[in-house]
Amino acid sequence: MKTVQFTLQSTGRSQLIDITARVQEMVTASGIREGLCTIFIPHTTAAVTINEDADPDVIRDFLYELDKIVPWQDGYRHMEGNSAAHLKSSLIGVSEQIIIEDSRLMLGTWQGIYFCEFDGPRTRRVLVRIDSSDFSTRNTAAA
Ligand code: ZN
Repeated sequence: MKTVQFTLQSTGRSQLIDITARVQEMVTASGIREGLCTIFIPHTTAAVTINEDADPDVIRDFLYELDKIVPWQDGYRHMEGNSAAHLKSSLIGVSEQIIIEDSRLMLGTWQGIYFCEFDGPRTRRVLVRIDSSDFSTRNTAAA
């Protein structure tokens, strides 16, 4: 299957946006039952992570502590003034991979997929690639 994408609009400077339902919709629409879902963020001041989606305080603590690890002002040289956002992007990472079974993302009970905005508000793209590992489908395609 080819790569699909969607856009989202962040509303804050630093923000985590739950994209679990949108990614699951793409998996369902792909018709792929067994395989891998890769999420890739094509930006240098954003990221993607998987973490708890039950208690919103986890997200608040996540962003609060990240600001302490990578402060906004710290004698950075980058002219654009958003070095902290670049660092956070690399620390958290721009891709995640999730196993698909029975057309479902195999996330844990408390896990959700979060787009991480570190230099918003901006319009952002999220790339999603869904690859099949269904051997019956592969054998048919190869025949
Ligand atoms: Zn920059």
